[in-house]
Amino acid sequence: MELRPEEISALIKEQIKHYEDRLEANDVGYVIRVGDGIALIQGLEKAMAGELLLFPNDIYGMVMNLEEDHVGAVLLGSDSLIKEGDEVKRTNRIIEVPVGDALLGRVVNSLGQAIDGGAPIASDKFRPIERVAPGVITRKSVHQPLQTGIKIIDSMIPIGKGQRELIIGDRQTGKTAIAIDTILNQKGNDVLCIYVAIGQKASTVAQIVEKLRVNGAMEYTTVVAATASELAPLQYIAPYAGCAIGEEWMEQGKHVLIVYDDLSKHAVAYRTLSLLLKRPPGREAFPGDVFYLHSRLLERAAKLNDELGGGSLTALPIIETQAGDISAYIPTNVISITDGQIFLQTELFNSGVRPAVDSGLSVSRVGSSAQTKAMKAVSGALKLELAQYREMLSFAQFGSDVDAATKAALDHGARLTELLKQGQYSPLSVGEMVVSLFAAKNKFLRSIPVEKVQDFEAGLHNEIRTSHPEILDELNETGLLSKELDAKLREAISAYLEKYKMLNGD
Ligand code: ATP
Ligand code: MG
Repeated sequence: MELRPEEISALIKEQIKHYEDRLEANDVGYVIRVGDGIALIQGLEKAMAGELLLFPNDIYGMVMNLEEDHVGAVLLGSDSLIKEGDEVKRTNRIIEVPVGDALLGRVVNSLGQAIDGGAPIASDKFRPIERVAPGVITRKSVHQPLQTGIKIIDSMIPIGKGQRELIIGDRQTGKTAIAIDTILNQKGNDVLCIYVAIGQKASTVAQIVEKLRVNGAMEYTTVVAATASELAPLQYIAPYAGCAIGEEWMEQGKHVLIVYDDLSKHAVAYRTLSLLLKRPPGREAFPGDVFYLHSRLLERAAKLNDELGGGSLTALPIIETQAGDISAYIPTNVISITDGQIFLQTELFNSGVRPAVDSGLSVSRVGSSAQTKAMKAVSGALKLELAQYREMLSFAQFGSDVDAATKAALDHGARLTELLKQGQYSPLSVGEMVVSLFAAKNKFLRSIPVEKVQDFEAGLHNEIRTSHPEILDELNETGLLSKELDAKLREAISAYLEKYKMLNGD
């Protein structure tokens, strides 16, 4: 039998017509069950995972479960306005947020809508909140420092642009403080910042925004907030939304810093909606894919190669531990995903060592290649000296007589610990940090009583700033500690030491 071409085309047309019919039928479904912020919908056979659905009363939902005979969606608005039998439309869109410079200085929710009382976000560019992370070929190794302005971090746990460094510790140990100080320190450094607040009290977020505004940091910062009172789905998507905003700038060749505060609450929000969707619970009742929840987010932090503009997205996720237990499920997951962690300790915090960074458990796996030469020169031995100090301290406590070498190490350690203390909202420039650590390294602090170390440091910074600004300028601009500069600094510090001693009646 022979088929004529006209017949074939007619057949195909017929098929396509039916296909189109079917497609249309599949774009509308009906709610079969609703409650707890979850809706089950029948008839949306073509729905995509993560797709946005439109419910009556302009309420949106997001597809989470693709079952054989129905789909499960989380609602991004109140479920009280939706009832069984309601019509649900597909939008063919994954959730998107507005991106671009219009977001600078703004506070937005997880959908990118302004919640700071200002005008709606005027951006015509949108990006889906989920995206596959940049591949290996598109990346470059991390090599530029991202200065936090916090001595103990930049000296011992340096962070590079494009790195993922975890801030981990119990509640009220200064986790947020480190992140906020790092944002403040980016002023004038051409780094755009995003602070994602997940599951925090609205009043806490308002205080943080106010602090950023007062310190002039909102100009280059966007805050994405999904507070504790918001629905679990909105808390769940907040970090992805923030990341999408950051990726836009990164692809423009800019440097971006993003803080996720915190991912413990994010995991809890995800657990809530997974359990409501009847996904099988695993360890600690988290669903099996909770690792993927954070890995796909943090993998999106990157340093792009030069062909792609050389932009970067540095991520500072925060995790809250219970009683210092870093071996719990979510902490171990995130520790293994990130390139290092800054571990904060309650005992240190309460004994007045703030920032309460545990220098033994904290590490940065890529940062040291992104440290300036000057910083490397003055901080190389720091970690070891502090570790020795802590060890000696534990047996010196028994009151036994110690030999001269041990005593010297103890004295030095005590002064170092004191020197590394730093108040909130006072990030230092590279130059100032190098000056402090240089003084410690070259034993200028030996004759200063421990309780006077901070006073001496403040005075020294003041002196150098007013009498030798060229030292700071050179350190900040070149990041090098040349022989001449070394000699000059030595001279300046010993001159100030004499002056300090005289003023303090020695
Ligand atoms: P939470 O678990 O509640 O989120 P957190 O770990 O984020 O707490 P912060 O809110 O940053 O901790 O800080 C707790 C308290 O300690 C705050 O009152 C803050 O002002 C204070 N604090 C933090 N860092 C310092 C510091 N370097 N010097 C003095 N006070 C500090
Ligand atoms: Mg906090």
